[in-house]
Amino acid sequence: MRAVVFHGPGDLREEELPVPEPGPGEVVLRIEAALTCGTDVKTLRRGHPVMIPRVPTVFGHEFAGTVTAAGAGVSAVREGDRAVAANSAPCGRCRLCAADRPNLCEDLLFVNGAYGEFIALPARLVAVNVVRLARATPARRAAFAEPLACALGGVERARVEAGQTVAVFGHGPLGCLLAMVAGARKARVLLVGKAGWRFERVRALGLGECMDAAASADVVAELRARTGGRGPDVTIDATGRPEVWRHAMESVGRGGSVVFFGGCAPGTTVSLDTRRAHYEELALVGAFHHTPHLIRRAVEMLEAEVLDPDGLVTHRRGLEGVREALELMARGEALKVLVEP
Ligand SMILES: [Zn+2]
Ligand SMILES: [Zn+2]
Repeated sequence: MRAVVFHGPGDLREEELPVPEPGPGEVVLRIEAALTCGTDVKTLRRGHPVMIPRVPTVFGHEFAGTVTAAGAGVSAVREGDRAVAANSAPCGRCRLCAADRPNLCEDLLFVNGAYGEFIALPARLVAVNVVRLARATPARRAAFAEPLACALGGVERARVEAGQTVAVFGHGPLGCLLAMVAGARKARVLLVGKAGWRFERVRALGLGECMDAAASADVVAELRARTGGRGPDVTIDATGRPEVWRHAMESVGRGGSVVFFGGCAPGTTVSLDTRRAHYEELALVGAFHHTPHLIRRAVEMLEAEVLDPDGLVTHRRGLEGVREALELMARGEALKVLVEP
């Protein structure tokens, strides 16, 4: 089979590999759709010791397809089933799994290999994070299950309710998915981005009221002005930039929640207005990754067409186009590239 293999930072190679055979508990999936992700760009640039502990490995982690072989003892799916898999599986045994926080599992098993014709899914993943699809669901839509589950987790951390105002900072694919999820909960959504081709594309999707941070002299003051002076009920950072984390904390209203969704560079810090954090009861919460429950909810929402992520796909490529796709992503010229092997 053809596959795009990661050998280390900056080193991506197109290779011929044997089609995998499933061991006990494993499943082999023929990949019909994979999606590029901002994490791919970061990983290609500097490696990712958590998501990719060993190289070489087939790259990419958002995918859906059809089961072509199932190993002994597999009951979740059968040959011929269409399915989507998450990119990780919790252990189910550690302290944080026991506390029902499997996204923080101390032994999270990561799975890569979306940019290939086939992938072998390990037994632990098959047991908890492979979901069968209804026949009609296109693979290109089902492949959104993983990033959508992350967005659901982020919105859930702030317990967003109907009628609240939610400001999302960042108009990348995850900022857009967060805006869609908040919108599906009937919140008023303010999407803070930066002018350019990508932002115009996002504006056309109608995910919320778009605000150009580059054109604003004071983003915090403008957010307050747009919310009757009070500030949004919830602010979510989806940029992973410390200065934007500060904007999220400074603009949120009294009693509000701030969700730190975007991961910043290691070693960065932000300062905090202690008076506001205390007297205004700000809830400052991190949001990381997803859980088996969120993956299932994401699949349900995609299948029920509660929201429609199709507009986030700006380009389509074959496996030979993966490198170019990631360059488009790195230059901010694509939202999501659909890769069809
Ligand atoms: Zn991703
Ligand atoms: Zn665990």
